[in-house]
Amino acid sequence: MSDDLPAASHSIAEFIHGYEEDHVLRGFRCPKCSLVTATWGLACPRCGSLERTETRLADSGKVAAFTILSVPGDDFLNDAPYAYVVVDLDDGARVTGWMPGVKQQTDLTIGERVRFVPSYKPGVQFVKDADPSARR
Ligand SMILES: [Zn+2]
Repeated sequence: MSDDLPAASHSIAEFIHGYEEDHVLRGFRCPKCSLVTATWGLACPRCGSLERTETRLADSGKVAAFTILSVPGDDFLNDAPYAYVVVDLDDGARVTGWMPGVKQQTDLTIGERVRFVPSYKPGVQFVKDADPSARR
């Protein structure tokens, strides 16, 4: 590799390794416009800057959107129904994940506080922030 090139940003595989094995959510902060994103890319989606700094993302945030999944993939056969969630993390990044135990629309509300809890299952697992049974 040439010394002239900046180090490559982490890959999607490294992001997945981060939450599955290192138990941290990884993302990027743009040093020019301060946008924080969990999404891998070569340039900042807001300002186009090629400078992106890897950062550890906040592990809690608020539910931006969700839906209930009743027909799961193979890894989640014993969890259905459960919620597929879009979460706005406290540092501004937005990630998707899933929440066991949320079985109907009335079990969760938009804006409710949730936090990342590592799981042996694929995907970023969230629980309600107030749920004491899932403390790490
Ligand atoms: Zn930017």
